[in-house]
Amino acid sequence: MEKTFVMLKSDGLQRGLLGNVLSRIESKGYSILALKVQNMTLEQLEKHYDGHQDKPYFPNLVEYLTSGPVVHMVIGGENVVAGMRKMSGATDPAKADLGTVRGDLAQDMTKNLIHTSDSLENAAREIALYLTPEEIIE
Ligand code: ADP
Ligand code: MG
Repeated sequence: MEKTFVMLKSDGLQRGLLGNVLSRIESKGYSILALKVQNMTLEQLEKHYDGHQDKPYFPNLVEYLTSGPVVHMVIGGENVVAGMRKMSGATDPAKADLGTVRGDLAQDMTKNLIHTSDSLENAAREIALYLTPEEIIE
């Protein structure tokens, strides 16, 4: 089964939207293989967003993602990497289609509520950043 990494960003828990997002994932029929509430460290953020450190929005992104706990998830399913990207919607919530998580539930380009891996390779890399193999159901 293909696996991807999904993160409900800090405003998700703050706004009480974990249930809404999980409900979409469950309704689609994907499997929840790991679920972990965690505070992000700067070190994790720099590794995760490698390539974004020089961008003007990076300080805001760090402030946002360290403002409270996030929820890390490993989600399994057929073509789940592409499927979860589609479910999340475009990076800018103002441009994301209605029916997507960002299109329905977010407004702000930085506070766009959800992260989903963009490739199988990045999914494996990101899963390893936050979860041990023992924490993931096989
Ligand atoms: P995605 O999360 O859709 O893969 P990117 O990899 O391009 O998007 O960017 C990573 C994250 O950085 C975004 O989800 C968003 O939180 C933030 N971000 C990206 N571009 C901008 C921007 N122009 N202004 C503010 N925040 C941004
Ligand atoms: Mg990205």
